[in-house]
Amino acid sequence: MVPIQMVDLKRQYLKIKAEIDKAVVDVMDNTSFINGLAVTNFTSKLSAYLGIEHVIPCANGTDALQIAMMALDLQPGDEVITPSFTYIATTEVMALLRLKPVFVDVDPNSFNINTDAIRKAITNKTKAIVPVHLYGQSANMEEIMHIANEFGLYVIEDNAQAIGASITFSDGSVHKTGTLGHFGCTSFFPSKNLGAFGDGGAIFTRDAALAEKAKMIANHGQSKRYYHDLVGCNSRLDSMQAAVLNVKIDHLDEYNEARQLAAAYYSNAFAENRHIQTPTIAKGNTHVFHQYTLKLDGVDRNELVNYLGEQKIPAMIYYPVPAHRQKMFSFLNLPEVNLPVTDWLTERVFSLPMHTELDQEQLEFITTHVLNFINK
Ligand SMILES: *Cc1c(COP(=O)(O)O)cnc(C)c1O
Repeated sequence: MVPIQMVDLKRQYLKIKAEIDKAVVDVMDNTSFINGLAVTNFTSKLSAYLGIEHVIPCANGTDALQIAMMALDLQPGDEVITPSFTYIATTEVMALLRLKPVFVDVDPNSFNINTDAIRKAITNKTKAIVPVHLYGQSANMEEIMHIANEFGLYVIEDNAQAIGASITFSDGSVHKTGTLGHFGCTSFFPSKNLGAFGDGGAIFTRDAALAEKAKMIANHGQSKRYYHDLVGCNSRLDSMQAAVLNVKIDHLDEYNEARQLAAAYYSNAFAENRHIQTPTIAKGNTHVFHQYTLKLDGVDRNELVNYLGEQKIPAMIYYPVPAHRQKMFSFLNLPEVNLPVTDWLTERVFSLPMHTELDQEQLEFITTHVLNFINK
C-alpha cells in the first residue's frame, strides 16, 4: 500500500508533472517573475471559473483578508462578527487592524457560523460579518446576505477552504462560495483545494470601485507608479505560483470530485456507528471537503490518534483551541464570551486524511482501523 499522508501532494504532482514543469520553465525563460503573463492568465481563468468580474491576486490568504478589510475602510474599534471556530488567520487580521472581532457560535452540524447568533451580536458599532466556509462547505449565505442588507453591513467571505463549492438559494439560483459578499478571499497554500507550490492568495469582488481599491492597497497604495494615494502593503502572487495554478485550476473540479468520493467512502463506512457522527451536507450545498471532519462521541480522541499513528495513519484536530481562547486575544478581555457549541466541537472534532489521491486500499485500511479502535 502507498504510505498514507494527511495530504499527498507528491502523487498529485506526478500526474501533471509534464504540464507543470513546462509552465514553470516558461516563467524562467521569460524571466517575468513579477506580474508576468502567468499572473494575468491565471487571474482571468479564476474570474471565469468563479463567474465574478474582479479577481485581485495577492501573496496569501491572510493578506487577502487583511486587504479586503482595509479596502472597506474598517476603522479601529469597528465590530466584526465572525466565528471563533476557524483557522486563526480569519480573526488575526482583525486584531492587526485594531478592529474588534465579535466571536459568535457555530451550528453543531455544519460547523459554520450560526445566523441567529449573528443577529443577536449586532450593535451600532457592527460594520461587517466575516463568515468562513469551514472544511469546504458554504455557510448559510442566503441568510447572511439578508441580515447584511437589513443592517447595512459588509460581508467578507473567508473562502480559503471552499474554492469550487456552491450553494443553492431558495429561489433555485446556484452560487459559488466567495462570490456573494462584498469580498471573497481565498488561499492557494499548497494543501488547499487549489494549491500552489508555495504561498498565494486572491480577493474577488463584483464591485469595480472596491476592486480598484483592493488592487491599489495590495500594491503600496498606488495605481500610477510612484504616486501613492493610500497606505497599503506589498502583496503579490508571484509568476511561478501563478504558472502552477494555471495548470491546476483546470483540474479543480476533478480534484474536488476525488475529495467527495473519498468523503463518501468514509461516511458510508461509519454510517451506522453510534460513536461517530459523519459530516452533514446542508440541502443545496456542494461540499468540497477541504477536510473530512467527524464528531466523536464517547471515544478517547487522544488514544484514537495514538492508535492510528501506530498504524501509520495520520489524523488531526482542526482546531484544538478556538480563536476566543487564544492568548493573542487576551487584550480583548473576553471572559464574558460564551460559545458552548464551539467549545463542545473543539473537544470532539477529528479529521482523517483528505486529498485527491486516496485510493480504495488506503480508505479501507483507514476505516477498518478507526472502527477496530472504536468497537474494541
Ligand atoms: C488557510 C486559511 C487561511 C489563510 O491562508 P494563508 O494562505 O495560509 O495565509 C485563512 N482562513 C482559513 C479558514 C484558512 O483555512
